[in-house]
This record gives sequence, C-alpha cells and structure tokens, in this order.
Amino acid sequence: MNRRQMLAASAATAFLPTALRAQTSPRLLLTGATILGTGPADVLIEGDRIQQIGSAIAPNGAEVIDLSGTLLMPGMVDTHWHMWNTIARGMGQTDLGGFASSMAPLANIWTPEAAALSVRLALAEAWSSGITTVHNWAHNIRNPEFAAAEWEAMREGGIRGIFAYGYPQDLPPEDRMDFAALRAFRDRFADMPTLRMGLCTRGPDRSADGIWQEEWRIAREMGLPITSHVASDRKGGAAGNIARMAEGGFLGPDVQIVHATHATDDDFRRMADHGSPVSISPWTEMEVGYGIPPVARMAKAGLAIGLSVDNMVLGGNADMFGVMKVASDLAAGQTERQGAVADAAVLHWATAGGAETLGLTDTGRIAPGTLADLVAVRLDAVNTRPASTPEFMVTHAAHPGNVDTVIAGGIVRKNGGKLIGVDHEALLDEAASMIAHLMRQAGIR
Ligand SMILES: [Zn+2]
Repeated sequence: MNRRQMLAASAATAFLPTALRAQTSPRLLLTGATILGTGPADVLIEGDRIQQIGSAIAPNGAEVIDLSGTLLMPGMVDTHWHMWNTIARGMGQTDLGGFASSMAPLANIWTPEAAALSVRLALAEAWSSGITTVHNWAHNIRNPEFAAAEWEAMREGGIRGIFAYGYPQDLPPEDRMDFAALRAFRDRFADMPTLRMGLCTRGPDRSADGIWQEEWRIAREMGLPITSHVASDRKGGAAGNIARMAEGGFLGPDVQIVHATHATDDDFRRMADHGSPVSISPWTEMEVGYGIPPVARMAKAGLAIGLSVDNMVLGGNADMFGVMKVASDLAAGQTERQGAVADAAVLHWATAGGAETLGLTDTGRIAPGTLADLVAVRLDAVNTRPASTPEFMVTHAAHPGNVDTVIAGGIVRKNGGKLIGVDHEALLDEAASMIAHLMRQAGIR
C-alpha cells in the first residue's frame, strides 16, 4: 500500500458505521409463515443459504423465528440506485431550478464522508423496505477516496450486489474517466462473494464519440459489467444511439441500459436480440420529466427488465412495492387492457428477474440452495388482508410499513418491524447535519 492508498483506507474507515451490526446466526428456523408460491411451510437457513423448506422441521438447535401472520416473499432487487446522494432527499427542485441545476453545485463539493453516509442511509432504507440486493450506481466518483468510501460502506453494511464505479458529475463529455484510478481501485478491491464491481458510464448520450467506446473497451478488458443511461429523454431517443450501439457491438448481456424511456420498438428489439437488459425507474422517469415509461412496449419486446428506485433526491423513498404497482399499472394504461402484465411477471422483475439482469442467479427465489434473502410481509394489516392472491397483495396492496422481517444472506436485518443493528436516530441526525452543512457551503437554501 502506498501513502495515497493508506490515506484513502484510513479516510474510508474513519466514518464507517457503528450501526448495522446485525444479528447473525449459523442456523435459523423460520416458522408460521405462508410462503409465496408454496403455502404454509417452515424454512431452515444454514449460513447464508436456504437449506430446507418443509412442514414441521425440527429446530435441532437452530434459532427459531416465529413469522406467524406473514407472507414470506423473496428479498427484492434494485437494479439502479444512485446511493451517493441519498442525504439530498427532496433536493430535485430548489430555487436553483430542477434536478440538474439543483444537484450540480452540491455534487461538485460532495465529500467521501457524505457519499459513505448516504450509502449507509440508503442501506438502512433498503433493509427496512425489503430490498436485499442493490446495484449502486456511483456516478460521482471525484477521486479514488470516493470509491473507497462507498465500497467500504457497502461492505460494512453487508449488502449484496454490484458497486458500479463511476465518474465525477462535472466531467466534460470530451474527457475520459480516470482509467489509472479505476485500475488501481480494481487491484485494491477484488470482488468479494457478496459484492462485485461494475462500471457506470455516461455512454453515447452523455459523452463524446470515441470516449464512450474506449470506456466500453476498458470495461470489457477488465471484465466489468457496464451500465449507462441511454435514450432517457426525447433528445436522447432521437439521437438513435441504441441502433449505433447494436451496430458497433456495444450491446450485450454485460450492458445494462437504464431508462430507455424514448427508445423505439426497433431499439427494444435490438436490445432483446443482443441480450441487453433494461432498468426502469418509473417514478423518477416521470418526476424528472423524461416522459411516460413505455413498460408495455418493453414487456412486449421481450426485454429482460429490472426495477429501480433510482435516487432519493427525486424519488423520495425506496418503496419497491410502489415501483411494482406503477410499473404494472402503466402497462395496463398504455395498452388500455387490465392485467396487460401479470402481477407475477412484475414480481419477477422485482426479484429473480431483476437479479438476472445484473448477472446474479442465486437470489430472488425461495428454494433450497439459494441465498436466504427473504422478506416477511404482515398479512394482518388493514391493507393486506383480504387480498385475492399473494401476487396481487405484494404488487398492489403492501407497502414498506408492512415489512415485518428482512433476512439477507442469512442475517436478520429487520424483525418485528424494527431495524436490527441500526442506530437510526444517530444516522438521521448525522445525515441531517451533513446535508445542512453541504447546502450552506454550496450557498443553497
Ligand atoms: Zn440513473
């Protein structure tokens, strides 16, 4: 380790969470729940995996968690989340104007400490709302310390998923990402079983020709999955970049396209043909004024679809139940046909299907051998019972307040409706004072 790396490492550990020390148990037995798709059954967890599903499993020394009165569903998967700006919740519209104008002065004075704190706050909300896998889209890596800080906050927090290493928000379109810093980071932080690395790029919509192709080449050389916002707004769609990407060999299962709100049916066919998945964040796509997310056309094209909460600046909360509902209902509205996309299909996007778009195959379903990523939703709330089917209940009726218990990789993160191991008052105080400080510094009211 050289001096710079030492500094980065100590900077990263100085503000690591004292919270998020969740309960771990080598063996857990979940009793009393109704399992989505299976019915009433017990679930035995050993280490981070589901070992057995059946009736009246003997504890044999396992810690028993009584989940009576709940529906057990797979942990949900977010496929595109800018965690670094979580403490700027609601700052998408200020005296400075809309999202871009309001966030720019803040993004430019952001610190590694603010990024790490934001990741910690985002993770607390993820656990609380039943999200157990994330794709952290870190698109304000101003120097290597930012990347180290976000990575460490994810690692310490114990979340599974992908850390997509990015670029400074104010990087000019003609400038390359800092490849030397990227390679150094890659060397220092090899993939862990729980956390993999990817590359988030500005892509053809937001960087110059020649630049984004080079970024693709480097990412593929390094074996990193690529993600990019493409055809998000009307201008982006008109640029025809998805067709150019298809022609040039820049699509593929390793290339996730985010938003694509203004992509054409031909674009969707190209993405499906090349295996590029899409990540949609219907709430923020509408909130920022991109347009109406073409969920029905995407589903009809056979795209692999993942769902996203995007960011808290615009999105407000990380309610994946609400994301499922709006995705489902947009498709119905667009086709003028009730049930255009089945509830089970939307649930798949939020769970196993979303995970597959990230190249992750061992989460999102409740089966022996898969990760013990599980969410117990209360069936005795005024808004959850009666409900015609469990799929309708979770896609249209439930909300994060109904989440009783969350287990991720065999670790209990929430139980009895309360987060485990998160000093949430201290976390919120820290977040509030940090954003107030940054706003003062940026001259924002
Ligand atoms: Zn985004």
